[in-house]
Amino acid sequence: CGIVGYVGPQNALDVVLEGLRRLEYRGYDSAGVAVLAEGQLSSAKKAGKVANLEKELAEQALPPATIGIGHTRWATHGGPTDRNAHPHLSADGTVAVIHNGIIENFAVLRAEIEATGVEFASETDTEVVAHLLAAVYPTLPEGEGRLAEAMRQVSRRLEGAFTLVASHAAEPDTLVASRRNSPLVAGVGDGEYFLGSDVAAFIGHTRNALELGQDQVVEIDRTRGVTVTDFAGNRVEPTAYTVDWEA
Ligand code: GLU
Repeated sequence: CGIVGYVGPQNALDVVLEGLRRLEYRGYDSAGVAVLAEGQLSSAKKAGKVANLEKELAEQALPPATIGIGHTRWATHGGPTDRNAHPHLSADGTVAVIHNGIIENFAVLRAEIEATGVEFASETDTEVVAHLLAAVYPTLPEGEGRLAEAMRQVSRRLEGAFTLVASHAAEPDTLVASRRNSPLVAGVGDGEYFLGSDVAAFIGHTRNALELGQDQVVEIDRTRGVTVTDFAGNRVEPTAYTVDWEA
């Protein structure tokens, strides 16, 4: 299972699919991607290999984009089907989320969300995060760091293990990720930024990596670069290192 995120000048889908192929060694049962173009999130997801997903994308192209996320899944909640593959979108289509790990308290959260009239599209634990982010986001003040703050608020409600990456339709230059008991690294290129469950996700593009600590949220932004905080919003200085193995 693996996670990739990209913001920069390149074709995001190409970068994300390359990352997913490099993460294939970890083993997985399904794969999916989402890109954000012209204020619209589009996704494709398939049970089976990344090659399966690529076949689907060849038949049903996504719009060209410079921001995107990709996921390989190792199913824990809900079978390995197209529907349960990530990304998961909020019911209003504003949020796309990918997740490695297990959200232990998802059943309580799901019941709470369903009570507000939201219908779930999958059997995964992950989907609660998409709906929670979509619900919290409009309650926050407009401006820089809005999605990051939504991610902090939602992360504080989650129990278990997670690496999460989210994209919001209103933030075309920003991806946000969160981690607890599950790995997450950021990559810093020349005017481009990456997220990965490990450096293999972006080793084809940069060797400059930032290690994220436990219970942290990282924002990668096209102009502001990388910002890391703890779940309370306090700024944290991430540990920078250079990846020294051969790609
Ligand atoms: N628990 C999530 C699911 O079953 C994520 C699994 C993973 O780590 O890929 O969809």
